[in-house]
Amino acid sequence: MEKKDHMIDKLVSLAKRRGFVFPSSEIYGGFAAIYDYGHYGILLKNNIQQAWWKHMVQLRDDVLGLDSAIFMHPKTWVASGHVGGFDDPQVDCRKCKTRMRADHLLEAFDINADKAPIEYINQELDKLKTEGKLKCVNCGSTDLTPAKQFSLMVKSNIGSPTDALTEENVVYLRPETCGGIYLEYKNIVDSLHPKLPFGIAQVGKAFRNEIIARQFIFRTREFEQMEMQYFLHPSQMEESYEMWHQARWNWYLKYGIPEDKLMWHKHDKLAHYASQAYDIEFNFRSLGGFKEVEGIHARGDWDLSQHAKYSGVTLDYYDQEKNERFIPHIMETSVGLNRLVLMFLDNAYTEEEVDGEVRTVLKFDKRLAPIKIAVFPLLKNRPELVEKARGLYEALREDWMTEFDDSGNIGKRYRRQDEIGTPYCITVDFDSLEDDTVTVRDRDTMEQKRIKIDELKTFFTENL
Ligand code: ATP
Repeated sequence: MEKKDHMIDKLVSLAKRRGFVFPSSEIYGGFAAIYDYGHYGILLKNNIQQAWWKHMVQLRDDVLGLDSAIFMHPKTWVASGHVGGFDDPQVDCRKCKTRMRADHLLEAFDINADKAPIEYINQELDKLKTEGKLKCVNCGSTDLTPAKQFSLMVKSNIGSPTDALTEENVVYLRPETCGGIYLEYKNIVDSLHPKLPFGIAQVGKAFRNEIIARQFIFRTREFEQMEMQYFLHPSQMEESYEMWHQARWNWYLKYGIPEDKLMWHKHDKLAHYASQAYDIEFNFRSLGGFKEVEGIHARGDWDLSQHAKYSGVTLDYYDQEKNERFIPHIMETSVGLNRLVLMFLDNAYTEEEVDGEVRTVLKFDKRLAPIKIAVFPLLKNRPELVEKARGLYEALREDWMTEFDDSGNIGKRYRRQDEIGTPYCITVDFDSLEDDTVTVRDRDTMEQKRIKIDELKTFFTENL
């Protein structure tokens, strides 16, 4: 396996150099754990999102779409248990002031403290301290504070007459997108009358005051989630869970993730309302091993019951055929879009030796590649070549994200397109002027073949 630090440095550097991902607010010295997506980053992110939407909504009869707002009534997060309960245990280094997640520190000693009470965490930390084993991950100091709970909720004063963030006027930026799905359950049932089981899917921003965020775009304070909540009768849970379990696993394989880089992680400790919880983990070369990318959880009727209780509005479902009224149970699939950007970059990153030189290439699944085709005139200073190449570029971009490039020599242009993962490069040369053929070069095999210009659309329709 590639050395972890090496690999993450290579990805961060390529992402910045080639315009995928930039650290936010860099000219002001940066803003921790927030990132911006450049031209190729947003194209890649959009393609991943569309691939998710296609399989979660477009190709299904039983899932509806939603785009709910980031801000919701503050009671939403009291009902869901996030206010006062969405905390992570934090430990500080007294020497270098680095903040650490106590559960992560314990994990390194094979102690599972995921969602454990703070008393248990401190007891385990104390044992390690006594043995002199507990050290700051940054400077190695043993002078660490006890763990304390730190709320992940991000606050705002939107709509408030004052700028003070007091308990009465505080509004939260949603820490997960599914809150909006529960709140719109009733409107969706009343307007579209879906029959159980059915799902509601949405993609959107979420915010968490993460304690540590040193893993590039794996864990950030502002991020996007793609979530689907599947509403069902409790008797349908087992079958539905099995179906989604399989569907989500297959989605990764469909988009080029090798099966041996994926793993199921079963949660031993379940939230009190959950009956089953599995994560899909991906083996990140850049993070040194398997890490969660997606959660698939059976959540019982807790969410709708809580919102019914706190809002005073009935959130049940009436099954006309069976004349039965009940609160639907929910199973969810929840995945981080930015985390998937890192996963696909990590999986695609390849270095190959070609003619004694290293070729860096992002071997994305073609459907995810930010740019599908690049068109080059062989020489920049020959107007007849430039004109023909530009005409071709303008025709192809009607159907595919296409780039025109006439800078530098052809070798450099190939290298640049390889580094952003473009599946096909077309060169318009002097023969093209005679016989209306062009060279099409394949990113992965580097093979070049001549194709007639009027056959290009068919070729790309079949191959992209
Ligand atoms: P973790 O244990 O890593 O903090 P979690 O189990 O709290 O994550 P969930 O609340 O289940 O995560 O969120 C569902 C998905 O949302 C995760 O699998 C992940 O892909 C994504 N996600 C969660 N937090 C972040 C974050 N801070 N940055 C990027 N993606 C995130």
